[in-house]
Amino acid sequence: MWDSFTLYAATTNAGKLREFAESASGAGIEVLSLPGVAEMPEPVEDAATFMGNAELKAVAYSLAAPGLLVFADDSGLEVDALEGAPGVRSARFAEDRAFEPGSYAGKDDRNNACLLDLLSREPFAPRTARFVCALALARDGEILVRATGSVDGEIINPPRGTKGFGYDPLFLLPALQKTMAELEPEWKWRMSHRGEAFRDLITQVRGRAVSGLVLGLDSATAREQR
Ligand code: IMP
Repeated sequence: MWDSFTLYAATTNAGKLREFAESASGAGIEVLSLPGVAEMPEPVEDAATFMGNAELKAVAYSLAAPGLLVFADDSGLEVDALEGAPGVRSARFAEDRAFEPGSYAGKDDRNNACLLDLLSREPFAPRTARFVCALALARDGEILVRATGSVDGEIINPPRGTKGFGYDPLFLLPALQKTMAELEPEWKWRMSHRGEAFRDLITQVRGRAVSGLVLGLDSATAREQR
C-alpha cells in the first residue's frame, strides 16, 4: 500500500534542498535536510566516479542517522576534449592545477577560467561536454536506490548568463541556444542532470512504495517516521 514518507538530503546547499523538496512533493514524498548535517564530519570524496562519491556519502551520512532514508548526490562536468575532466574534481579543478594567473571573483570563476585556458590549447578539438549527476539513497549504511542523470552541451567562450552557478555560463544547450546560466531555475531543473537524476530516484522510490516494498519499511513504520 502506498504511504508517504520522508527522505533526508545529505546536503548543506539550500538551493539544492529546495529543488529536491519541491520536485518530490508532487510525488507525495517529503524531503528534509538531514538533521545536523552541517556539523557532521564530511566524508572524503575520493572515489573515481560520481556514483562512487554519492554512495560513500550516502553510506557515511546514513550510518550517522540510524533508521533514516538518506540520499546524497555528486555531480560535475565532463569535457570530451579534456578526456572527461574536470569530472569528479569539478569543484576543485583550478585548485588541483594550482591555476593562479589572475584574480577571480570566487571559486567558480577560477574554475571556469582554468577550463577555458586548457581548452584554448586544443583549438581544433570538439567542444562537446556533459553535466552528470549521481544520487544514492541509503539506510543504516546500505545502498537501496541509485539514480543518474546527464545533459549534453557545448562549452562556449565568452561565458553567457548570470543565473545558476559553477560552469553554467560556459555550458550551451544547443537545442535552446542558451547557456544553463541563461535559464530560469524552473527550466534548468527540467533540463538538468540533477533534475533528471532526482526524478529517476523518486520514480524508483515511489515504484517500490506503491508495490508495497516501501524500501523495507511497512507503511506503519513509514508513518511513524514522519
Ligand atoms: P557538487 O556535486 O554539487 O559538489 O558539484 C561539484 C561541482 O560540479 C560544482 O562545484 C560545480 O563546479 C560543478 N557542477 C555541478 N552541477 C553543476 C551545475 O548544475 N551547474 C554548474 N556546475 C555544476
